Amino acid sequence: MGAVVFDRQITGQGTLETQWQAWPGLCQLPVVSLDELVPPPCRAVVVAPHPDDEVIGFGGLLELLAARGSPILVIALTDGEASHSGSQQWPPRQLAQARICESLAGLGQLGLPPHCHSRLSLPDGALSDCSEMLAQRLAGLLLPGDVVFSTWQLDGHPDHEAAGQATSRVCSQLGCRHWQAPVWMWHWSRPGDARVPWSLMRRLALPENTLRQKIAALAAHHTQLTPQDTGAPAVLPGFALARMLRGFEYFMPVGATA
Ligand SMILES: [Zn+2]
Repeated sequence: MGAVVFDRQITGQGTLETQWQAWPGLCQLPVVSLDELVPPPCRAVVVAPHPDDEVIGFGGLLELLAARGSPILVIALTDGEASHSGSQQWPPRQLAQARICESLAGLGQLGLPPHCHSRLSLPDGALSDCSEMLAQRLAGLLLPGDVVFSTWQLDGHPDHEAAGQATSRVCSQLGCRHWQAPVWMWHWSRPGDARVPWSLMRRLALPENTLRQKIAALAAHHTQLTPQDTGAPAVLPGFALARMLRGFEYFMPVGATA
């Protein structure tokens, strides 16, 4: 975390959830239905740069799809081994194993069986350095007709941006429908920010029980929720969680124009 890409800085506490909730534009974003996002016969594929992104960006969507009985594939691009720099408690290898377990527990909480999960184990923090391999691996997993979800290609975290770009490239080659979700955008941008294509954004309403399951799924990610032995704060502190656990998830179609 703490990454800087151009003017999309992830530092400090960012825009607080109270500021987002005070913005009338947030609840004026058009609502999209589950069937509009993923027409029933289609397989949904979620591309998650780090273990926890599948819950933060798409947990409600996944719970609703699992309950509907839709085919689902979650592709974990990295094992998240770089979230605890300098930690003695969590050296990279042990951290990766813990985060894989957390991710599987979280997906189980959302109603997904383990066989819905595929891991690429690409390097955490360096996806942009292996974008060709990333695209090749994705191309081997995606099928024409899939509806694919990834992080936004301008999300501000380099891995999230690399994931969005590579997914976009492969989806356009295969003819897959592709939606991108903002995750860290809610941190660095502001209400009405001109850097964000608000007119493209759609929001999926999460029923109360779905949101409860999403909160429980995120609670499985213990390593991200507790302060680090280095003195660093939790990767996901309360002010970030407040933005991530709304009653809506947000998606932008790729290839559309504002
Ligand atoms: Zn991430």
